[in-house]
Amino acid sequence: MHLKDLKINEIAGKTFPCKCGITHDPGLEIIDISKNGIVSAIDFVLKKAKGRIIVICDPNTFKIAGKQVYDSLKEKHEDTEYYIIPERNGLAVVPNESFIGETMIRMPLDIDFFVAVGSGVVNDITRNISYHFGKKYCVIGTAPSMDGYASITSALIIKNLKESCPGQIPIGIFADIEILKNAPFKMLTAGMGDVLAKYNAVREWQFARDLNGEHYCKEIADLIWCAADKCAACAKQLKDRDEAVVKNIMEALILSGMAMGMYSNTRPGSGAEHHIVHYWDVEFIKKGQEHPLHGNSVGVALCVICKLFDIVKDKLPVKVIEIDTGKIIRILKSAGCETDPKALGIPKDTFRDSILYGQIMSKTKYTILTHLSRNNMPLLMEIADRLTREYYE
Ligand SMILES: [Zn+2]
Ligand SMILES: [Zn+2]
Repeated sequence: MHLKDLKINEIAGKTFPCKCGITHDPGLEIIDISKNGIVSAIDFVLKKAKGRIIVICDPNTFKIAGKQVYDSLKEKHEDTEYYIIPERNGLAVVPNESFIGETMIRMPLDIDFFVAVGSGVVNDITRNISYHFGKKYCVIGTAPSMDGYASITSALIIKNLKESCPGQIPIGIFADIEILKNAPFKMLTAGMGDVLAKYNAVREWQFARDLNGEHYCKEIADLIWCAADKCAACAKQLKDRDEAVVKNIMEALILSGMAMGMYSNTRPGSGAEHHIVHYWDVEFIKKGQEHPLHGNSVGVALCVICKLFDIVKDKLPVKVIEIDTGKIIRILKSAGCETDPKALGIPKDTFRDSILYGQIMSKTKYTILTHLSRNNMPLLMEIADRLTREYYE
């Protein structure tokens, strides 16, 4: 039996003693991404909640699904409340200390079970708050836009910097496929970008294994790689909001989060492309501007890192996995994803600096950027200039 051969539901709720020496535990009980997703979420919450239930949404997700979830729960479980995280001056909700603090203050007492209705931000805020309350939570996803659903940590913004903060894994992840496929198109492309980045995450994981003897799990790496393959194979149909493709993306995103959880490290799901994106995001946040959606940036940064590997792969001390850069770009374009940092509004200087200094966004993860900055800074500078010219001139 190999993890990659199991359906996502067969992975949830079990533990897997593995040849790599780790017993992999996804830490969640149920996943249902289907037309029936919300109904099965309601049944699950009613079984789990012993006391007060709180449904947390933002104004948009309340309209899309939150109200329906609240009404259905309230009908069968009187002690149910909801909270809509309010926008401020028309600006979207962000997972920073201010929004989290206010949400915490507004929480009623004696909550027994939390239900997040939304995607990245609502999930991150609910994860963090339920963790501090010491209560369990589940999430009803509204967009297949990022791989944080099954994650144990939340990427929160504290004092204008992104920080990975403690949290907990939801015990259930649900989504109504009709809602997912009708999400704003940029959220669908974001999901595709975040999924395809797993190719580079695995490449760099192997690179660190072969170069530094880093621990590696073939089961987890294969699981992630196959999930990306499944999405790449049907990328073209994303533009039609094809149900099967949207389901594949959502499941691949959840699997990616589960893989990182089962490995207790983000190694399986992110590499240098994520560090470049974190560098971009911080620059936007410092200027008080909204940054592009995570996965859309990740898709672009994946193209950048693939080009970088093409330049350096023959100069590296170990052989790395061959990923066809042209094919990655074609897949992203066929799905309607951006592939150029200019199109995302990344300033030229920020772009160049992100290649030179992206590695500082992680102290522990050894990527191609870490390797070049430690061993061949002149080459890294040459590459940064070359790629900047290629995209911006
Ligand atoms: Zn393993
Ligand atoms: Zn990501």
